[in-house]
Amino acid sequence: MNNALKAELAQALSTKRVGLRFAPALENQFKQHIAPQRTRAALASGGFGLVLYVAFLLVDWLVVPDVFRLALTLRLAVITPLGLLAIYLANQHMARLVAVLGPSFADWFAAISGWAAAGTLLALLLSSHSPNAYFYHAGLMVVLLYATLVQSTRFFVAMVTAVGILAMHGLAGLYGSAMPSAVLVPMIDMVLFAVAISLMANYLAEKRHRHRYLLGLQDQLILAELQTAQEELQRLSRSDALTQVANRRHFDEYLQQAWSRASLDGSPLSMLMIDVDHFKAYNDCYGHQAGDACLKAIAQALTSCTRRPNDLVARLGGEEFGVLLQQASAPTARLTAERVCEAVAALRLPHEHSPTADWVTISVGLITVRAEAPSAGPQAMISGADQALYDAKREGRNRVKAVVA
Ligand code: GH3
Ligand code: MG
Ligand code: MG
Repeated sequence: MNNALKAELAQALSTKRVGLRFAPALENQFKQHIAPQRTRAALASGGFGLVLYVAFLLVDWLVVPDVFRLALTLRLAVITPLGLLAIYLANQHMARLVAVLGPSFADWFAAISGWAAAGTLLALLLSSHSPNAYFYHAGLMVVLLYATLVQSTRFFVAMVTAVGILAMHGLAGLYGSAMPSAVLVPMIDMVLFAVAISLMANYLAEKRHRHRYLLGLQDQLILAELQTAQEELQRLSRSDALTQVANRRHFDEYLQQAWSRASLDGSPLSMLMIDVDHFKAYNDCYGHQAGDACLKAIAQALTSCTRRPNDLVARLGGEEFGVLLQQASAPTARLTAERVCEAVAALRLPHEHSPTADWVTISVGLITVRAEAPSAGPQAMISGADQALYDAKREGRNRVKAVVA
């Protein structure tokens, strides 16, 4: 979700009244979101409406029997095939229709089908000489209710639909068979009530729909932010604050996983235990801050020496680092260990109090194991690397000492 949308959402949620139009980005997103479900709903209710439309033949037969042939022609030969064709085409080419006609195209299909149904009634009403023909004004109300409530179009479309149907009422009143005023007045009343009630229900439904949409979007936003925060927390809990490489906790977990994998596929696993030589003297001479900078530079150098994505560099504590190399045989790991040693020396960080060299150096204890070996385990591997490191120190520092378990 981009920032403009977030701001519009916050604004929309802070205002108590949800109108029928959001700010531009939000409105666009809302329309795109509801287009598929509105289209499916319009097609389903359109199909059901067609069934009702055909079933109305029974009413035609009872109320306007003199124009029943016209009713049959209009309902079965004209409108129903057109309706079926529209539903078929909309079903087949929904995505393209949304792209060409816009996300609200289904609303206008619903409006047109309402007008078609109302037009049929109007045609029958005007053609019939039956004394009961004016009952078809009530039929127009049924169409109105179906178009505005069941098809639940947007409020604006519902209004246009209602105005169209009202206009048909007007035409029918003007040109239809004269209605006794005792019937005309209550009929007009009922029609106006039906319009008011159906539009109000449609308005409230759209308002509720929009409000629900805002709440749903807010939930999505909160979830996304929670996920980001959780990822950040996880990253922080796994990395060393000073050097940004992995911390001891992550190293231990990673070693455990690598160990399990290596036990399964029988591949060798190698670990480098690294300690900075004479680092106490470095701190004493250059200060703790310079010591920190030195540790950062060493962590970067170590990272630059690892090649594979599943190799891991970690600060194990103080001035000690660990490097885990998966599927690395003893010779390969040895090469990496040498490279690591050279890379740190190549930094040429001056260390005038080191008896080993004029710059900062490291000692490396290397161990390569086969995880399926009996009595082996991650802890034994760490101890082995530690022992090798101790030997490297004893033998003069600035070197790699390797053992194969
Ligand atoms: P050796 O060659 O035997 O490893 O000698 P050394 O001086 O490196 O080892 P020793 O364990 O005596 O000293 C380690 C020093 O590392 C002591 C401590 O001040 C320093 N140190 C540990 N953690 C940090 C840190 O986060 N920042 C800084 N600047 N220094 C640290
Ligand atoms: Mg140490
Ligand atoms: Mg040290």
